[in-house]
Amino acid sequence: MGYPHEPHPKETLILSKHFGDAGARSYDGWVKCGGYQALKRALAMDPADVIEIVKESGLRGRGGAGFPTGLKWSFMPKERRKPHYLCCNADESEPGTFKDREIMRWTPHALIEGCAIAQHAIQAEVCYIYIRGEFTEPIAIMQAALDEAYREGVLGGNAMGTNRRIDMYIHRGAGAYICGEETALMNSIEGRRGNPRIRPPFPAQQGVFGMPTTINNVETLVSVLPVLNEGAEWYKDLSLGNPKSTGTKLFSVCGHVRKPGNYEVTMGFPLGELVNDLCGGMRDGRTLKACIPGGSSVPILNREETEACLLDYEGCVEQGTMLGSGGVIVFDDSADMVYQIMRLARFYAHESCAQCTQCREGTAWTVRILERILRGEGEMKDLDLLLDLSEQMTGKTICVLSDSCAAPIVSGIKKFRDEFEAYITGAKQPVAALT
Ligand code: SF4
Repeated sequence: MGYPHEPHPKETLILSKHFGDAGARSYDGWVKCGGYQALKRALAMDPADVIEIVKESGLRGRGGAGFPTGLKWSFMPKERRKPHYLCCNADESEPGTFKDREIMRWTPHALIEGCAIAQHAIQAEVCYIYIRGEFTEPIAIMQAALDEAYREGVLGGNAMGTNRRIDMYIHRGAGAYICGEETALMNSIEGRRGNPRIRPPFPAQQGVFGMPTTINNVETLVSVLPVLNEGAEWYKDLSLGNPKSTGTKLFSVCGHVRKPGNYEVTMGFPLGELVNDLCGGMRDGRTLKACIPGGSSVPILNREETEACLLDYEGCVEQGTMLGSGGVIVFDDSADMVYQIMRLARFYAHESCAQCTQCREGTAWTVRILERILRGEGEMKDLDLLLDLSEQMTGKTICVLSDSCAAPIVSGIKKFRDEFEAYITGAKQPVAALT
């Protein structure tokens, strides 16, 4: 059964190989697919050696920041003088991103296996899987898989017969975007308001409940399985030539393409090919106008940049954007970029936790300016004001939500200035009702 499309010949199915196969959801099904072999290998190894293999593989975090996974694990104290924790970030709230929920829906045991390997590497007995509360189906599937894993002896006091304790708990989020930020996520687990924390201290020194903690994204943790099963060299060789961006990555593609969905390709795959070939190109004879390649928090690419962009960390930076979470939002020539950018700014204004003045005031202020431009009440100086505000909102706050609001505004004005000016000069009709 295809999921939801038949695999494209240019896809490299590793993480998504069993998407669409309900048989792979159960413990028995997962074992038949070769599941829990990577965990067996890891448990037979010294934790430091597991970290070393992951370091060698070049695997980088798939949640957004792209930090090297093995290096992150190596920041945890080597001696376990106090409890260590793993938090799996399954909050996935970035607009345009919908891959982690599919990993949990189709291969819940892959996530359990990835978490257990990470727990062994960082010597954490307990893992909290923090899942976005709206993911009712993935939560039910994950809980059923966890219950099975305890029954089958994968988890518990004698995990995989090793006489070691590995526990995992699901923690449901309550729908705040900011709880996907790792320090806000830890506050939320502790029962506090989900506000980001000032760093330092970093989580590896003082994380959840004040104890050393590592936070990894769902896709990152399941990517550890092929590294353990096939080896670091094999994983590195999957990339299309860039040694700094290795393995495969799931890209969630939405917007004006014929075939939206999740596509797994090797790092370095051309964005233009993903959009125009795998996703079937634009609908109804329309042409490509713009693309946000890494979830809504990253700078917008115009058509030429989209077609020149390689989907890896460095390839995106070369085009002035970021790989982020891999949520690819595509716009055709019917899109009103001013309106789209206003909608994004509204989202960030709504989700700001309001601790920092630049973010609390800046996100709300940018929305007011963008709305008045769309109503035909803007002035040319509003564009400079938006750019000035965006500068004040970048790199000056506790977390990057403020930067995330500014990035599409700055890139939008730079690349689609004529659309803003058309509203201001009256060349374009104001939007009658701002929804
Ligand atoms: Fe909260 Fe915004 Fe400051 Fe982040 S940047 S801590 S969301 S106010």
